[in-house]
Amino acid sequence: MAGFSDPIFHNEEAARAHLERIRWPQTVSCPLNGCVGRVSPLGGNSMGPGWYFCADCRGKFTVRTGSIYERSHVALHKWVLAVHLLTSSKKGISAHQLHRMLGVTYKTAWFMAHRIREAMKPVNPGPIGGALKTVEADETYFGTKDAYRGKPKAEKRGKKMAVVSLVSEGQARTFHVDRCDAVTVRKILKDNIRWQSTLHTDESPLYFGSIKTFAGHNTVKHTAGEYVSKSGATTNRVENYFSVFKRGMKGVYQHCSEKHLQRYLVEFDFRFNHRAANGVEDAERALIALKGAEGKRLTYRRAV
Ligand SMILES: [Zn+2]
Repeated sequence: MAGFSDPIFHNEEAARAHLERIRWPQTVSCPLNGCVGRVSPLGGNSMGPGWYFCADCRGKFTVRTGSIYERSHVALHKWVLAVHLLTSSKKGISAHQLHRMLGVTYKTAWFMAHRIREAMKPVNPGPIGGALKTVEADETYFGTKDAYRGKPKAEKRGKKMAVVSLVSEGQARTFHVDRCDAVTVRKILKDNIRWQSTLHTDESPLYFGSIKTFAGHNTVKHTAGEYVSKSGATTNRVENYFSVFKRGMKGVYQHCSEKHLQRYLVEFDFRFNHRAANGVEDAERALIALKGAEGKRLTYRRAV
């Protein structure tokens, strides 16, 4: 990746130019109304740098417009740095750490991190797997459901948050589920895996009947100490995904409420799907997230 001495991490103008190049590699286009052509830079000191004027809609915009940086008072080089940090650290980076490294308040760092997770979210990803391809599916439990936080131990028992993950050919799709039952799991499998795939799972009853939906279904019997079945079925990849996820959640994020869990899953999916083993290096991974920063509808309306 670009070294941290690169001006894009220290200088607002350098960061702006970097983001403009990523967003508009050829010519600047108006993000306001799907206008075409006729955009000119706005000179003068009244507006500040980085403003453009669209002659089609007579609107003014900057590279922040219609992106996760819109309505943010944080300097662009801090955003660029935050994206690089969040995409290059193996297990994520806490809002506390971002707050210290960026010199912004903890609250601002927290909102920035969540907006960057928005940028990491794939747009219309489509199902995974396909003919002659295997998809591993598994579920895991961790932490405590929001409604049981702070309750006595006996009451909390078994009230963990549940996630279901699908892994195929280096790509993961992970879902937070309120209830991890057969109906919920079946719907996730059906909606996200091509029927021509062969499904690999453990012998959990959650996956009973999957053979009716997919071209094949092989199970591995963990209870029998088996990690790869005679038919070659394994869930090692999805289990590895869970182990990275859990280490990150435990070591870095610590307190994640259930209502934000899906955003963290997006972050872990993003890093997994764009990891070095898939041929994606740090700098390119950051570029993909920076590219994903535009056109995202903001869930957080609050200014940071
Ligand atoms: Zn326009």
